Amino acid sequence: MNLYATLKRLCLISSPSGREGAVREEISSIISPFVDSVSVDSLGNLIALKKSRTEGAKKVMLCAHMDEIGFIVNSIGEDGAVRVGTLGGIRLAAASYTKVISQRGVKGALCANADVQPADYKADTMYIDIGAKNKREAERYVKIGDTFVCEPSLSKLCFSRVCGRPIDDRVGCAVLLELAERLSGVELSFDVYFVFSVQEEVGCRGSKPATFAISPDIAICFDVTATGDTPSAKPMACALGGGAAIKIKDNSVICHEDIVKALCKVAEAEKIPYQREVLTFGGTDTSSMQLTGCGAMAGAISIPMRYVHSGVETCDMKDVAACVSLAEKYLLSL
Ligand SMILES: [Zn+2]
Repeated sequence: MNLYATLKRLCLISSPSGREGAVREEISSIISPFVDSVSVDSLGNLIALKKSRTEGAKKVMLCAHMDEIGFIVNSIGEDGAVRVGTLGGIRLAAASYTKVISQRGVKGALCANADVQPADYKADTMYIDIGAKNKREAERYVKIGDTFVCEPSLSKLCFSRVCGRPIDDRVGCAVLLELAERLSGVELSFDVYFVFSVQEEVGCRGSKPATFAISPDIAICFDVTATGDTPSAKPMACALGGGAAIKIKDNSVICHEDIVKALCKVAEAEKIPYQREVLTFGGTDTSSMQLTGCGAMAGAISIPMRYVHSGVETCDMKDVAACVSLAEKYLLSL
């Protein structure tokens, strides 16, 4: 597979939290030839299993989330303005005055009330203009509870950088798909569960029951992390082009020391570019996998990304390739 082509294929399918069906079908069809079984649990998590021949083998769970941030319609004004709440931590100032598209394919412009300054944008001061003159017209195209997402796109920038959305976390899904292909002919001494989770953006929900059902010994999350390499960014050591980011800590997790050490050791031995990640905000499925059931030894390989949760999420395909190599070599070292 070509990593960029896979990423683009996944980015162009919209799947806000709780509405992951379309991207799940695509991922399911890509991963099926490389694993022994594929199933969907009651929340909608996609679980692909590559079984070991070893009796009583340990279980390794690899997880990336399928959902993306979005909007959900909560009312329609008499003037035809579609009012929405947010699904996940949308940066409204970054998302405003862009095109959005609904689950029914209705296009609109996400705008802010004219008397509100960008720093004060809240969901209830935003609206979607779908071109309707009044409520009756709007109701022909939009229903309460419909979801909207920022229009998907993916473009190449200079060098190996790419820009668009929702790279968070289709890039993690693309890493897992590439990994599944690379491992498909390899005999491993442990079971590998490739989990594509739902509803991460609204509080790491899907990965909890998936982890409970699997009860993994080791759990590794693949998601994006912020960087400190843009003008006036919060101080942070991670940078685009610095390689795979090995998570040590974020706001919701302290990764297991042995996993951090093992990942760093593999990266050094295999000469895979890597950087150590301490994120002072945010969280991912790493924490829910660590804390569900009896708990798991948890860690994360993060893909460095600028402008997280905006319409211009930007990452470096060389970092993405480093994440695949690190995960592959780490699993082969177990
Ligand atoms: Zn994410």
